[in-house]
Formats: sequence, C-alpha cells, structure tokens
Amino acid sequence: MATSNLQVYQFSCLDDNFGYLVHDPDTGTTATIDTPEVSAINQALSVKGWKLTHILNTHHHPDHAGGNLELKQQWDCEIIGAECDAARIPGIDRQLVDGDKFDFGGHRVQIFETPGHTVGHIVYHFINDDVAFVGDTLFSMGCGRLFEGDATQMWSSLQKILKWPESTLLYCAHEYTQGNGHFALTVEPQNADLQARVKQVDELRAAGKWTVPTTLKLEKATNPFLRPASVDLQQTIGKVGAPLAEVMGETRRLKDNA
Ligand code: ZN
Ligand code: FE
Repeated sequence: MATSNLQVYQFSCLDDNFGYLVHDPDTGTTATIDTPEVSAINQALSVKGWKLTHILNTHHHPDHAGGNLELKQQWDCEIIGAECDAARIPGIDRQLVDGDKFDFGGHRVQIFETPGHTVGHIVYHFINDDVAFVGDTLFSMGCGRLFEGDATQMWSSLQKILKWPESTLLYCAHEYTQGNGHFALTVEPQNADLQARVKQVDELRAAGKWTVPTTLKLEKATNPFLRPASVDLQQTIGKVGAPLAEVMGETRRLKDNA
C-alpha cells in the first residue's frame, strides 16, 4: 500500500486527454505527465500553487509532447523521456532505458519500455506509491493502437505491466473507457466482471464523471487485451489455442475495425 504523500492532480484537456500533475509536498518537486495542453497545465499549476520542475514524457505524439518546449521555456523544467526515442521528444534533458530508476522528490520511479503504440513509448511506475502513468500503452479496458509496433511487441509490453502489484493505480492518458468497455463485451460476452464494470462505467459517464484511474486488479478482470488466455475471448474471436500475442493482436485488429 502507498505510505507516502505523493499527490496526483488530474484534469481534463484537449478532447479526451487527461492531464496529470504529480507533486511531492516535502520537496516541492512537481511534474506534468506529458504536455497535452500548455494552458490547461498552467491552469492546473496555478490552482494547486505548484511550480513545474519536471516533464515526464511517455511518447512523442503531439497530444503528449506538443507542449514540451513552451513549458520548458516558461518553467526551466527538466524533461525526461525515452533514450530510444530521444530525437522525437522535444527538449529532452534526461534519457532513460528500460529498468532505469530515478528519484522524484524522494519517490522511487522505475521506467519500463512498452513499445507497440509507438516504438519509444515508456511508462512510469512510482514503485513505493503504488501508482503508475501508462500513457497510451494501456487504457481502461483497452490498449493503444499499434501505430508503430506489432502485436508481439505490445503483448510483451503489457506483460511487463501485468507483473506489477494488482493494487497499482493506473493513470492512462485518455478517457476511452466507455467505448472500450462496449467493444470488450463483444469479444468476451460471458465475463461477469466485465458486464458489471461496463454498467458502472455507463453510469459514471452519464453523470459526467471520470472512469480513470483504474487498478491493475480491475484491468486483469475486465481488459480483453490483458486476457488473451480467456477461453470465452478465444472462442468468440476464433483463436482457440493460438499464441497469446496472436490472440491479443486479433483483438486489437477487431477493435480497429469496430
Ligand atoms: Zn499516442
Ligand atoms: Fe494520446
């Protein structure tokens, strides 16, 4: 369980992105997870009275790194991102590789390379805080589109996340949960946990509420991209006994065409 005092401030920006500020009150260390929208990030900083010290980039897409240079110029903050994609992370100062750990205001953070959505996607696990920022790799009941990688890469990326404690709070970068959930029901219709979660999500969205963060435990029970071993899923999509990466890949292909 989390024993520390790490604070996460969540806000909506762009069409369906989430912005996140991460703050350690003892040191004042404050990061934005990605830079989707400069004005929304500055607004959040002013609401909280925090000063931006870091940008933690998950990947190069404009809705994740598009505000890097403007924020760096304004705040003189340090930009952290993936070494393997450094050329596409504007203003990057510190380049990390799979397994690297760093100190964030006294909090241990480990990064994991999770190629699939992009080749250089990384996720940030605050290991003693039971919190992770998973960008566009994993969504609630979904996963990122395979723009640059293939299903084998994505499945190995998702398996890294599957090894974390089930209690881990997962902050993903988009509010895609409702659409993901309704797709998930088409490929795993017998999953009672999924049926219950979709009903709950429909209620939350009807009330204008967010469905993120989620937990790894909930995702293991309901996210078809983490459940290629499910017999119900394999039967529904016609992949009984296939390699798990292939099942996941077929699930992704069906979602792309849904
Ligand atoms: Zn993206
Ligand atoms: Fe995105």
